[in-house]
Amino acid sequence: SEENITLLTSNASSGKIGELEDDTISYFIKKKLRVWCKQPRGHWELGTIRSSSGEEASVLLSNGKVMKVARSELLPANPDILDGVDDLIKLSYLNEPSVLHNLKFRYSKEIIYSKAGPILIALNPFKDLQIYGNDHVSGYGQKFSDSHHVYALADAAYNDMIKDELNQSIIISGESGSGKTETAKIVIQYLAALGGGNCGIENEILQTNCILEAFGNAKTSRNENSSRFGRLIEIHFSSMGKICRAKSRVVQLGSSERSYHIFYQLCAGASSGLKERLNLRSVSDYKYLNQSDCMTICNVDDAKKFQQLTKALDTVRICEDDQELIFKMLAAILWLGNISFQVIDSENHIEVVDDVAVTSAALLMGCSSQELMAALSTRKTQSGDGTVVKRSTLQQAIDTRDATAKFIYSSLFEWLVEQLNNSLEVGEKCTGKSISILDIYGFESLKDYESDGIDWTKIDFEDNQECLDLFEKKPLGLLSLLDKESILPKASDLTLANKLKQHLDANPCFKGQRGRAFSVRHYTGEVLYDTNGFLEMNRDILPSDSLQLLSSCNCELLQFCSKMFSESQGQSNFLHTVALDSQKQGVGTKFKGQLFKLIHQLESTKPHFICCIRPNNKQLPGIYEEDLVLQQLRCCGVLEAARISRVGYPTRMTHQEFSRRYGFLLSEATVSQDPLSISVSVLQQFHIPFEMYQVGYTKLYLRAQQIGTLEDKRKQV
Ligand code: ATP
Ligand code: MG
Repeated sequence: SEENITLLTSNASSGKIGELEDDTISYFIKKKLRVWCKQPRGHWELGTIRSSSGEEASVLLSNGKVMKVARSELLPANPDILDGVDDLIKLSYLNEPSVLHNLKFRYSKEIIYSKAGPILIALNPFKDLQIYGNDHVSGYGQKFSDSHHVYALADAAYNDMIKDELNQSIIISGESGSGKTETAKIVIQYLAALGGGNCGIENEILQTNCILEAFGNAKTSRNENSSRFGRLIEIHFSSMGKICRAKSRVVQLGSSERSYHIFYQLCAGASSGLKERLNLRSVSDYKYLNQSDCMTICNVDDAKKFQQLTKALDTVRICEDDQELIFKMLAAILWLGNISFQVIDSENHIEVVDDVAVTSAALLMGCSSQELMAALSTRKTQSGDGTVVKRSTLQQAIDTRDATAKFIYSSLFEWLVEQLNNSLEVGEKCTGKSISILDIYGFESLKDYESDGIDWTKIDFEDNQECLDLFEKKPLGLLSLLDKESILPKASDLTLANKLKQHLDANPCFKGQRGRAFSVRHYTGEVLYDTNGFLEMNRDILPSDSLQLLSSCNCELLQFCSKMFSESQGQSNFLHTVALDSQKQGVGTKFKGQLFKLIHQLESTKPHFICCIRPNNKQLPGIYEEDLVLQQLRCCGVLEAARISRVGYPTRMTHQEFSRRYGFLLSEATVSQDPLSISVSVLQQFHIPFEMYQVGYTKLYLRAQQIGTLEDKRKQV
């Protein structure tokens, strides 16, 4: 019966047909309304019911075709007056095809921002829209109050901070290439404009972005400017609401197809004097750079970028000596990559080829070629009678070389972040509160941690304990097993897969597959994984010999790095700690630890969420691929958020009831006697705000207190 029809069907999005929904569909069929019809290929098309018989309905699709569809393949569509609503919670029917349609409708009009209850959805436009910049910053709020925008969200965060005297956070999530970093920049730009004084700190903050991107971003197949680190940017304000300090905390992750932008920029843009001092060659001469076939990026002038970078370094007061030191380290890394080894016996032992690569690297690092060669070609092990020096095998030597280069780079990056943080502090006292912006990178190369990266946005909505256990449980969680397997000499990706299957099978979220494969049932659905490369990625061990070498180098920065490293280990005898610790803890575990530290930082803040969506894989404007968007919406928990927000309509009345009770209040008699029209006229006459109600086909849904307003009017008559 019509009375039973409810719009808040619980599982409409999954496409499963529940009992209530079945009633809704009956109503739709009877009234010949707009519906979504599932197509043989799985996507949904809009159509209108023409007739029905038994379990089948005949539907006229929007492309003019008529098709017979089973009831179970139909979902209710929203009336077309709701096409393109700015908040998904305004949709009467919140199923997946309706949500996809709504966002597509808006995207086709270049409206990239929408709301899903508390979450701001941002679709990557892949082109410059004229919706940013000073014209748009000033007077924001009045001018754009009805359209959603990152500026509006940043504005709300700023106002909440002032009004409630509470720290705020803006949490930006999304896949690689979805626009997180761009969005973070837009937020910063807005806050800088709002909270900038005359100290120029806002310009410095923006220059910091340029520096961190050069050193922390790289080209990948998904994003030409992919962040290879996660970043929490804290902007502190004075009690007057002016910015007084900006601070970044970073979580690093490995590189990708092309190496970090800075290497290409340096090679392309260094002056001849600098080139000579660094013995710098061109990109194609370095193994770390020439192994990929993408040495340049379309429309990016690396030399020009290098000039911008040095300007930015000047702006944030990194002195020329320090700049030279940075470039020296970069060149040392490039030369390290060119060091080669020669196998000298049947057991694959090696010696280092003594060539220009070794001499250049050693010179730049501030040690002798002999010291460097020794560190790369031998390893010290402890035995009963003391230390034994063993010659390395080819694989060991290559691993040591690459781990050394990586260590230098990541230390350099950390050092740089610290320098930037020191420079971004002005005299004014930070007596006010802060806004933290979290931009956590895309995860395509370490798929396993995807769930870790996203879970925190969902924790409020669903209990994910089983899946979390699968990853974190000690000693038999996925991360611990990965760490253990990483230190076994004969381990391979296949033995790892077998271990996982052996120990994790009892967890309902885990399923072993053939060979190296296994699948995990994440919050959003099952994902298939291949252990290929897991061990290698997780190991990344720096032998103590290399560390010892680095700490003895006559180079300020390297000494600083080793010192920092020892401090972070919390022990003076850092060589010992490193060797032990890095063997116990793989990259995965360390990364998780760092990530949780960042998230902990946000615990006492009021969060604002932005969910970035990449509408296509081609990085091109105007293309909206429904499947891809849907998968990301599920990941961000957007539908759940919208649904939960909608549950906040405690008052539900049929249009009959409502029109009978309040219809007489109408100042002008409506022509139509239809209860729905009467209800809507009543709402409009009394200016009940749109977000305070939902109009269904049979019922009206009202937020708390609205009915009280109407009851008051009734009494006044
Ligand atoms: P990753 O996780 O790989 O770092 P990301 O989510 O940070 O990815 P971005 O680097 O922010 O992605 O965005 C990728 C590209 O998309 C940008 O370089 C830019 O070309 C485009 N883009 C993103 N957001 C916008 C926007 N609001 N306007 C115009 N272009 C955008
Ligand atoms: Mg990014």
